Amino acid sequence: MIVETPSPLSQDFRERAAALFPGGVNSPVRAYRAVGGEPPIIRRGAGAHVWDVDDNEFIDYVGAFGPLILGHADVGVARRLHEQVDLGGPFGATAPGEVELGEAIRAAMPGMERMRFVNSGTEAVMSAIRVARAATGRDLVLKFAGGYHGHADGLLAEAGSGLATLGLPASAGVTATTAAQTLVLPYNDAAAVRRAFAEHGPRIAAVIVEPVAANMGVVAPVAGFLEALREITARHGALLIFDEVITGFRVGLGGAQGRFGIRPDLTTLGKVIGGGLPVGAYGGRAELMDLVAPAGPVYQAGTLSGHPLVMAAGVATLSALTPVAYADLERLGASLEHGLLAAAADAGRMISVSRVGSLLTLFFRTTPPTSYREALDADTEAFARFFRGMRATGVLLPPSQHEAWFISLAHTDAEIAATVRAATVAFRA
Ligand code: PMP
Repeated sequence: MIVETPSPLSQDFRERAAALFPGGVNSPVRAYRAVGGEPPIIRRGAGAHVWDVDDNEFIDYVGAFGPLILGHADVGVARRLHEQVDLGGPFGATAPGEVELGEAIRAAMPGMERMRFVNSGTEAVMSAIRVARAATGRDLVLKFAGGYHGHADGLLAEAGSGLATLGLPASAGVTATTAAQTLVLPYNDAAAVRRAFAEHGPRIAAVIVEPVAANMGVVAPVAGFLEALREITARHGALLIFDEVITGFRVGLGGAQGRFGIRPDLTTLGKVIGGGLPVGAYGGRAELMDLVAPAGPVYQAGTLSGHPLVMAAGVATLSALTPVAYADLERLGASLEHGLLAAAADAGRMISVSRVGSLLTLFFRTTPPTSYREALDADTEAFARFFRGMRATGVLLPPSQHEAWFISLAHTDAEIAATVRAATVAFRA
């Protein structure tokens, strides 16, 4: 059994946070309900490491859930931020950073002909769907089970039984009327998408998909799935929205659309493009984005949108993301994958590793899942024990079987080796 070291300062902050925030946190997964144990209170990060308020050090694979592709407290990002702090802002007017970051995004993702910055991935998705409905004059949105697209009402919908079932609310406070505008289908099931279009085609405004699913743990698209979505949506006059909030600038410079060579109509971004500051962006074909106010009739606005500090952190981050950087991330990812598989085999544990580049999930099931149902099949109790074992040896993983681990450019062979050693111990325990 793993005994947590006493952490007096952490405990004090946890108690004060519990009195302030629902469940003691400002985003649910931080409460550690899926793995047990007390959630950490982190004061500081540098490179691939974080320290809690009691000065316990961890190798970090949370990476702020995706944004920190350069690692914690990157010097290039910090320098740009300091420069921008001295310049002031925001100004309630366009500033150079917005143009610079926008051009960097468009250069990497040519499909983002026109875009708009917002403050979170949730906002980006909400707005992209509003554009899709305006462009098509249709009401339904098709998503996939296990896909997370932020907490806008209409996307907190789950399928009932059967294919192409109109969605039921998956959160209290979401009306049945709103949820019924979302169709939910199994990920990687192109035949189900064809059937849904046969039944509801004239009402479907858009298909929204995580082109590499990362919110049920990492689930890669099977060969032909994304191509089928592109073909079916085009044939039925619906839009294809790639939600690249996680995959954008993560699975490659051009995101998943670059990696798989498929151009969606609209793309949503977040996380990496803000270098760790709050951000979202949506964009796509110019004639679609020109529907947005003041160019067009779709209203969308934001007091802090395109904030100069966020843009500065984003520009600094993207400028470090060279082809060599992605080759490094790929190599580190492969090394961690192989190390974990070998450590598990040594200990006689049946696991699988699902990985796309520097996005990875260790599943306590024998094969990488291809759908949400298969992902839910994994042994979450075994994962929770493994998680606690890793934490006790100084490795902080995302606290759920159904989250992606994020490798950063600050991770080195030394951190990967230490992680594999910790895993060897945790698998045996
Ligand atoms: N889309 C995807 C694919 C995400 O992973 C997330 C957040 N993890 C969101 C949208 C929502 O982004 P945010 O938390 O910034 O609102």
